[in-house]
Parts: sequence; structure tokens; C-alpha cells
Amino acid sequence: MNRILIAEDEPRIASFLEKGLRANGFTTSVATDGDQVIVMALDENVDLLLLDLGLPGKDGWTVLEELRGQGAMLPIIILTARDDINDKVAGLEGGADDYVTKPFRFEELLARIRLRLRNRQREPLPEELELRVNEIVLNLRTRRVVVQNKEVELSAREFTLLETLMRHRGQVMSREQLLDLVWGYDYDPGSNIVDVYVGYLRKKLDNNLIETVRGMGYRFRESLVKG
Ligand code: CA
Repeated sequence: MNRILIAEDEPRIASFLEKGLRANGFTTSVATDGDQVIVMALDENVDLLLLDLGLPGKDGWTVLEELRGQGAMLPIIILTARDDINDKVAGLEGGADDYVTKPFRFEELLARIRLRLRNRQREPLPEELELRVNEIVLNLRTRRVVVQNKEVELSAREFTLLETLMRHRGQVMSREQLLDLVWGYDYDPGSNIVDVYVGYLRKKLDNNLIETVRGMGYRFRESLVKG
């Protein structure tokens, strides 16, 4: 079932939209100010955002810009009372997918929602949001890790360590480099935390992709070694 986030501060319109969408099999949530919209829209369970431009707090333009700036890929349909061609152009350039002018007919909005959701299901995830080496796929937006089509749970630190190794695949990374890139500078360089976390990762990934290079550090193999 698709979840639609309704960003609308006018209760009458929000409730009209909720009723209509629910009657058509959608799940809905309502956000009534800009900050709330951003938090809720970044929730991965939201499939589409209906965005009123005239919101209290952050207005619709700011919301749009911040969401796209943070890599949110969900389809966004702008709702606006302003019947102005300039709004339309600016909205689409600012990252909106479509535009509906108030007052609108519910059927028209529904048709646009369905179209956007259909298009979305056909679109592959853009390359930069996924890091894929061999059998491991990191989704950099949802922070999900899939190994041989199975999801693997990693902690935030494990994820960053794996991402770093994968980005530098084929290169030897010293412990110091990994400490700097993954943990920042405030770690004791004598710490064995890198080795400990490599151990966690190897166990969870259940493969030999992270190779120990004696006396030097670790290297993420570009291809699997059999046996
Ligand atoms: Ca409004």
C-alpha cells in the first residue's frame, strides 16, 4: 500500500485529501508545518508528498529545496492556490514532479498521484545512491546493506567502515587511514578498533572480500576469491 504525506496547514483541505485518498486505498499522514514535513518525508515509508506551498514555518519552496538537498527521491506534487505560471516553472526546476492548482478536482489529483507512483516504480535507483561491488550492495540513502540478495544488519560505524573500504576497493588502506576516515582524529592511533570492526564485518558479510595485507592494513577485493 502506498503512503502519501499531505503537507497542508488548512484543516479543511487536509481532511478532504485524507478522506479521498483513503477511500482510494492509500495510507495517509498529515504534516502542518514545514519542519514537520521534512522530518516525515525523510521517513522511508512515505511514497509521495503532496506539498502545499503556503506552509507556516518553512514554506514549501524551502521544504522542497531541503528535501532534494538531502537526497530525498520521493515524488513531490505541489499544491498551490496561486494560479501562476512562474510558480509552476520554479516548482519543477526546484525538484517537484508535478503541480496542481487549488481549487482542483480530486479526480485530477488522483490521476497525477497514480502516474507519479507508476513512473517511480519503473525508475531504477540512481547510481550515486548505491555502491555495488560484487555481491554487496550499499544503499547510501536508506543505509541498507544487501549481500547476495539478503539484507544484513550493520551498525552505523560498521556501515561507514564498509562504505570506506568499498570506495577504495583494490587499494590498501592502513589502520591510520581507516581510523581517520571512519572514526575521526580523536582516536588513539595505537587502538585496535579497526581490527575489531573488520572482524565484525567479516563475520556479518560472511565472505572473504576484506583482505588483510600484512604489515600494511586492509584491502577490499575487487572480485571474490573462490574456495
Ligand atoms: Ca497553506
